[in-house]
Amino acid sequence: ETTERTDRERSADSSASATETDPLLRIEDVWKSYGDEEVLRGIDLEVDRGDVEVLVGPSGSGKSTMLRCINRLTEVDSGHIYLDDLDVTAADTNPDAVRQQIGMVFQDINLFAHLTARKNVTLGLRKVRGFSKEQARQRADSELERVGLADQADSYPAQLSGGQKQRVGIARALAMDPEVMLFDEPTSALDPELSNEVLEVMQGLVAEGMTMVVVTHEMRFARGGASRITFLAEGEIVERGPPEQLFENPTHERTAQFFESIR
Ligand code: ADP
Ligand code: MG
Repeated sequence: ETTERTDRERSADSSASATETDPLLRIEDVWKSYGDEEVLRGIDLEVDRGDVEVLVGPSGSGKSTMLRCINRLTEVDSGHIYLDDLDVTAADTNPDAVRQQIGMVFQDINLFAHLTARKNVTLGLRKVRGFSKEQARQRADSELERVGLADQADSYPAQLSGGQKQRVGIARALAMDPEVMLFDEPTSALDPELSNEVLEVMQGLVAEGMTMVVVTHEMRFARGGASRITFLAEGEIVERGPPEQLFENPTHERTAQFFESIR
């Protein structure tokens, strides 16, 4: 099976030449089951460079699984995911290389407790990108500044608020210079006030033109930041379109019900 996959990839590589106008992220007929539960059932999705795709849907609809497949934390059963011309899902694609190019921020803040904010950011720069100590320090400080935490570089996670920790997580992902950023309910564990400071940082990334896939219940962000909203239910895309369509004029009853329920 591995050989067959590689051959297909080779022919795809020789025929396709990615350009700036091709979608940056392409998800093609992705299926994923856990046991006999089909969690993703033939997902097709394309995200253009600089676009912000907001994923919404009921709990258990497969949103997290989809993000995890995109940065290879979970293996798909079938189908393909491409970042530019890299087949993320190919057996011979290194997951670490994928994760450098596709940053992810989770709901649960997963910083190293024994390291300062700066060290949490420099770690990957040193290990993954091979930066010197001084280069890593400079880059970490500029990423911390980008998320509004220039003055907290020497703080330990226990000294930071939930929103500050989440912003360190964002700085850490940005330091890898990713092509795409994935956010999985980054504010769900935070009080509204702390959510806002994280959402502001995310809005800043939108303004910078970062390509993002964001799972969130923050409908203000979805309205203001999304290029497109995808509504997922039971592992299938029910409807996808610009925010105005999904909020004001959904095509499917199921979408209308969902947006009604979270209003
Ligand atoms: P969402 O993020 O939309 O709430 P998830 O992708 O987390 O949905 O989960 C979709 C379904 O897959 C759920 O029924 C969940 O229980 C199941 N699931 C997710 N991850 C695993 C796993 N590692 N093992 C078994 N089942 C899982
Ligand atoms: Mg989830």
